[in-house]
Amino acid sequence: MIVSKFGGTCCTHLNAAKVKQVLTPNHHVVVVSAIGKTHPTDTKVTDLLIALHNNLPDVSIFDLVAQKYQKLAKICQYTQIDALLSSTITDIVTKNNYHNTISKGEEMSARLFAHYLGYQYVEAEELFAFDGSSVNLKQTFVNAKKAYALYGNFVTGGFYGGSSVGRQTFSRGGSDVSGAILASALSATLYENYTDVNGVCVANPSRVSLPFTARCISYDDMYLMSRLGANVLHPDAVTMARQSNVPINVRSLFEVSDFGTLITSASSPQQVLGITESQLEDGYQTNVIHSLDGFSILARLARVLIEMPNLQVFSVTQKDNLVSICTNMPIIKAIYNCLLTNCAN
Ligand code: ASP
Repeated sequence: MIVSKFGGTCCTHLNAAKVKQVLTPNHHVVVVSAIGKTHPTDTKVTDLLIALHNNLPDVSIFDLVAQKYQKLAKICQYTQIDALLSSTITDIVTKNNYHNTISKGEEMSARLFAHYLGYQYVEAEELFAFDGSSVNLKQTFVNAKKAYALYGNFVTGGFYGGSSVGRQTFSRGGSDVSGAILASALSATLYENYTDVNGVCVANPSRVSLPFTARCISYDDMYLMSRLGANVLHPDAVTMARQSNVPINVRSLFEVSDFGTLITSASSPQQVLGITESQLEDGYQTNVIHSLDGFSILARLARVLIEMPNLQVFSVTQKDNLVSICTNMPIIKAIYNCLLTNCAN
C-alpha cells in the first residue's frame, strides 16, 4: 500500500499525464500540491493566492490562478472548471480568511486530479483535524482510516485541514506533512514523495553544480538536513514517518527509472550526508552533516578556507555529526569541492 505525494511542479498541466503514468494498483492514496512553476520565472499558485489575499477586495490576481487551472482542467478532462473557479473566488471573497484563501490551490488540484485518475475526491478539511494551529493526530488517523475503508483509492489536497473556525494550513511545503500523516495513519509500506529532482542531493543543485544524490539516508540525518535548510522535504514529514517507521522515497517524476533516495531508520554508508547553507543577517551559515570525526572534517576544510581571499570566519561549531561555519561570504561551493570532489567520499 503506497501513499504518494506530488509536489507543485508535478501538478502543472505539462506534467499531469506523467502523474497518471506512474500510478499502479498499489497506489491507493494520492496527495497533491497547488500548481507550481512551469518555468523558472513563473510564480507558484500558493504565492499568487498569498498576493491575492493581501490585495482583497481586488481580485484581479485570481485571473492568473484561473488560467493555470483552466489549462490543467483541459488535460484532466474536467468540464466543470468554470463553476469550480467561480465558487472558489466567491468563497475567498466571502470568508476573507488567509488560511482559507491559500488552501484553494491544493483543493482545486485535488478535485481535478481525482477526476483525471478516477479516484474518489476526499476534502482535506474533513480529513486533517486541527485543534487551533496543530493537528489532532488521533482524530486525523480515524478520519484517514475511515476514508480508506470507504473508498479504497482517494485523492486529497495537501497543506491544509479543518478546525472549528474554518480551514487551517501547515507551514510552507506542508503537503509533505499531509502525505506523511496519511502514510502513517494507514501504515503504508512506502511514502513516495514525487518532485523534480532525483532524490536528496548532498547540496542544493542551484548552489553547486550536479551534486551527488544520496541513495539512502536515515530519518535523523534527513531531519537535520531539513531543519538546516535543505528544502527537499518538510522536517515535520520526516518526524511523522520516523515515528511510524514508514520509509520515505524521494524521487523524480521526470526520471522514473531512477529510484531516488530512500529514507529509513538505517544509517547511510556515506561519509558526507549533506551540506546546507542559510543566509544570516551579516553573512552565511554553512552546515556539514557527516558520519565522520568532526575534527578530521575541520582539518580538511581549514586547508581550503585558509586560502580564500577576504574570507572572514565568524564562528565554527562542531558537535556530534554536525559542523557549522559562519562566514562573511558563501563558501558552500568550496566546501562541496573539498569534501566531495577532491577527497573521496
Ligand atoms: N503549496 C504549498 C506551498 O507552496 C504547500 C506545498 O506545496 O507543499 O508551500
